[in-house]
Amino acid sequence: MKILVIGSGGREHALVWKLAQSPHATQLWCAPGNAGIAQERLAQNGRAVECAGISAEELPKLLAFAQEKRVDFTVVGPDNPLALGIVDLFQRHGLKIWGVNQKAAQFEASKVFSQKFMEKYGIPTAAAGTFSEAGPAKAFTATLGGKCVVKADGLALGKGVLICRNQTEAEKAVDEIMVSKAFGAAGANVVIQEFLEGIEVSLHALCDGTTAKIFPTSQDHKRALDQDEGLNTGGMGTYSPTPFLNDTQLAETARRVLEPFMRGCVAEGIDYRGLLYPGVMLTKNGPKILEFNARFGDPETQVYLTRLENDLVELLDASASGTLAGHELKWKPDASVCIIMASGGYPGNYPKGKIITGLDAASNLPGTKVFHAGTARAGDNVVTSGGRVLGVTALGKDLRTAQTAAYAAVECIQFEGAHFRRDIAAKAF
Ligand code: AMP
Repeated sequence: MKILVIGSGGREHALVWKLAQSPHATQLWCAPGNAGIAQERLAQNGRAVECAGISAEELPKLLAFAQEKRVDFTVVGPDNPLALGIVDLFQRHGLKIWGVNQKAAQFEASKVFSQKFMEKYGIPTAAAGTFSEAGPAKAFTATLGGKCVVKADGLALGKGVLICRNQTEAEKAVDEIMVSKAFGAAGANVVIQEFLEGIEVSLHALCDGTTAKIFPTSQDHKRALDQDEGLNTGGMGTYSPTPFLNDTQLAETARRVLEPFMRGCVAEGIDYRGLLYPGVMLTKNGPKILEFNARFGDPETQVYLTRLENDLVELLDASASGTLAGHELKWKPDASVCIIMASGGYPGNYPKGKIITGLDAASNLPGTKVFHAGTARAGDNVVTSGGRVLGVTALGKDLRTAQTAAYAAVECIQFEGAHFRRDIAAKAF
């Protein structure tokens, strides 16, 4: 099977790495890919993975590429092409593609849509209101005593969520989003949720339109600095499994969230085939959904795919074809820890083109895989080309062992200004 993966981050490197292990994969491209992706080879025939210089948002070019190369199956990593309708476009041209269609991508593209859906179908979530005018929005925050979270409706590069401790902050947040339009059209409407206290975990489920298969739990670390200080980022590290939900509680959460979700999708005419990634707060009153994402999380993908035993080509094909019910997800008992090495300055401005050394030494450690996120090749060197540069991932018989192994690999790698958190997975202990 000839496969095309779309995207260029650590998530896509993990997808490519896992797909390349399948005996079904005979040729694999990634658009646009990165330096680490270009080093992968297919298990079936030793063929190198090729990077195509097309960005993930250039839908017509991606379609032309898939047609020209006679790609059998396309796998979409990031949210943007999904929200732009890449799945619908490829399907209209008779091409098989994995990822949610544009209607299903609304769960991520519109927080108002998701909030209303959760309320309509009884999915446990925060007490919330949705507003198109600042006055009523502020009146609602007052009913919450100002302790709330104000969220711009649309995609805002992960920045449109403002956490408020009192009414003054809440009114400022509403003004910033709705009046000053800090996030442009994405802030024409807002969702305001009560502030929930608890432990935050990531859930993932693979869906095929009617069936949803839950993954084990994982936890991301969104803040840039240790002890959850500093600015929000795209994720500084993950681990799986987490100790916060046992198997029974996970199954119960899946029942309370995924069953009404799939039922609601069928009722609303949404053919949800792809990945569902709910952000969850484990509160003293049970799990509550904060938001839905409609794709794999990054860096959650790195820890999930290092633990997954199934053939990923078969699973994603079943998700796209509506035949997931016949598959059982199998996971290694090992724990996995992923530590993000980021460019100095990230998530603010950062330099690019810094030479990275020690990659081979890190990769040669047993149980370790260095996924590339923002890297490029410059002559004989691999250099930094993004904020999040590497996802250094290790498996171990338990979380401690995996954490120690991942940090040992991080210590092998150098680039000027590199920064990473030293407390990834520490919450589990
Ligand atoms: P979201 O993009 O909606 O997941 O929000 C980004 C982050 O804001 C989440 O990962 C949480 O850490 C935090 N957050 C969102 N909603 C709430 C809430 N209702 N209560 C507490 N924290 C929240």
